[in-house]
Amino acid sequence: VTEVAQAGDSEALAALHRVFGYEAFRGEQGAVIEHVVAGGDAVVLMPTGGGKSLCYQIPSLVRPGTGIVVSPLIALMQDQVDALRALGVRAGFVNSTQDFDERRVVEAEFLAGELDLLYLAPERLRLDSTLDLLSRGKIAVFAIDEAHCVSQWGHDFRPDYLALSLLGERWPDVPRIALTATATHATHQEITQRLHMPTARHFVASFDRPNIQYRIVPKADPKKQLLSFLREEHAGDAGIVYCLSRKSVEATAEFLSRNGIEAVPYHAGLDAGTRAAHQSRFLREEGLVVVATIAFGMGIDKPDVRFVAHLDLPKSVEGYYQETGRAGRDGLPSTAWMAYGLNDVIQQRKLINSGEGDEAFRRRAASHLDAMLALCETAQCRRGQLLAYFGQDPDAAGCGNCDTCLTPPETWDGTIAAQKVLSTVVRLQRERGQKFGALQIVDILLGKRTGKVIQFDHDQLSVFGIGEELSEGEWRGVIRQLLAQGLLAVEGEYGTLVLTEASGTVLRREREVPLRKEPKKPVTSRSASGS
Ligand code: ADP
Ligand code: ZN
Repeated sequence: VTEVAQAGDSEALAALHRVFGYEAFRGEQGAVIEHVVAGGDAVVLMPTGGGKSLCYQIPSLVRPGTGIVVSPLIALMQDQVDALRALGVRAGFVNSTQDFDERRVVEAEFLAGELDLLYLAPERLRLDSTLDLLSRGKIAVFAIDEAHCVSQWGHDFRPDYLALSLLGERWPDVPRIALTATATHATHQEITQRLHMPTARHFVASFDRPNIQYRIVPKADPKKQLLSFLREEHAGDAGIVYCLSRKSVEATAEFLSRNGIEAVPYHAGLDAGTRAAHQSRFLREEGLVVVATIAFGMGIDKPDVRFVAHLDLPKSVEGYYQETGRAGRDGLPSTAWMAYGLNDVIQQRKLINSGEGDEAFRRRAASHLDAMLALCETAQCRRGQLLAYFGQDPDAAGCGNCDTCLTPPETWDGTIAAQKVLSTVVRLQRERGQKFGALQIVDILLGKRTGKVIQFDHDQLSVFGIGEELSEGEWRGVIRQLLAQGLLAVEGEYGTLVLTEASGTVLRREREVPLRKEPKKPVTSRSASGS
C-alpha cells in the first residue's frame, strides 16, 4: 500500500469522525474507501443497511472536486441532501422537481467548486447540457447508486443507466464506484460489463442478515393470518406489508385499520401528495404499518422496521431479499414473514405466460420464479438457501433463526397422491380433450358434484372421487408442490394445468415424490423460544 493511500486513509478516518461522528468503518467500508480515494474503480455489493453511502460520500469529501452521485431515487434526493447539509456537508441535487432558477443556483455552486456532493438523476446524464456542465467543473468521483438498474434482466431496469458507460470514456481519470444491494453473480457481471468497468475491484460483503427471522407459512386466510401475526408478535411495531395489486393494498390497509392496527396504503395509483404524506409518516412515527406494492421502499432508511410481511409471492429471490432487507437495519431482531399458496404459483405463471416480452425474457422470468418457489418449498434452512443463491457458503448446521430450522418440516411420500393428480389431468386431456385449472381437478379428486362437475360430466370419469383421503387444502398443497417441482405446469392465461416432460416419470412409477407436510400450527417466535 502506497503512502498516498495511507494518507488518504487517515484523512478518510478523520472525515468519518469529524463529519459523521462514527467511531470506525464497518465491514468493507474502509477497504472500499481507501481504494476509491486512491483513484481506483470499485463495484460494491453490500446488503441494504450495510453502509453503502459512506463508500462514496467520504471519497467525495477527501478527493479534490465534487462527487457526482447518480441515483434513480429522485423522491429521496431532497431528504438525502438535507441530511448531509445538517452534517455540514456541501451537497446539492439537480432533478426534474426543480425549476430553472433552483437548478441554476446548484449549477453555479458546482462550477465554483462549492459542492462536495452533487446528486443527479440518470436521465439528466444523457443530456448534452449536463455533460457540458460536468466537464466545466472538477469531479472527485462518480458514484452509481442502485447499479443493478443497469441489468436488463433485473426487476428495476432503467434504460438511462445504459448511458452511464460513457462516463469512463469521457472522464478516464475520475474513479467510478458502482453500488448495489441486489446481486447474484449474473447481475454482478452485467454491472461490470455494461458500465464498462473491467479493471474495477470488487467488494462483496456478506449477504447474511442474522437478525432477520425468515418464515414462510401456507396461505389460508391471508388477512387474518397477518392480523394474528401482528397481534401476537409485532403489536405497536413499525413494518411493511407487501401486496401485489393496488386493490389488495387498499383492502388490506383498511382491514388492518378496522382491526385496530394503524395502517396506511402506498401504491403508484395514489396521488403524489398522499404518497409523500404516508411515507413521511412512516419515517417519523414509531408504530405505523405501511401496506404497499413494491413501489414503496427503495432507498428508505428507517432503522427500526421490525417486520416485513408478504401477502403475495415476490417475482424473484432478489426481490424477496431486497424487500425483506428493509427490516431490522438497526440490527435488532426482526421478522420476514410471508404467506404463500397455490394461487400465488398459478397467478405468477399466468402473468409470465400472458405478459409481454420475448421468449428469452419469459424464460428468465420463469427461472426467477422457480428459484423463489424452491425457497418457499424447501425443507432445509431458508437462510442457507438464500445465501447459496447469492453465491455464499451457508452454515451446514442451519441458522437456527428461520422456520425450517426452528420447526423442521416433516415430509411424506406423496407419490400416489401425485399420480392421482397427474392421472386426472391426463384423463381430462386424453379422453375429453379438455384442460382445467386446479379448482376443478381438486373437485374431481374429492368427488364433489359441483355445477361445473355435472356440466362437464366429470362425475363419469374413472378418477372421480379417488382422492377422498386428503382434504381440499391438502390437495391444493400437493398441486402447489408439483408445480414448484416442475412435475406439473400452468398453461396459457387461464391457468389450466398440463403435464410436463417430467410428469411421465411419476406416472410410470419411475420415481418417488417426497412432499412437505404443511405445518399444523404456525411457527411463532414464542413457540420457538418456549419449547
Ligand atoms: P445502505 O445504503 O447500504 O442501505 P446506508 O449507507 O444508508 O446503507 O447506511 C445504513 C445506516 O448505517 C445509516 O443509518 C448509516 O448512518 C449507518 N452507518 C453506516 N456506516 C456506519 C459506520 N461506519 N458506523 C456507524 N454507522 C454507520
Ligand atoms: Zn435456518
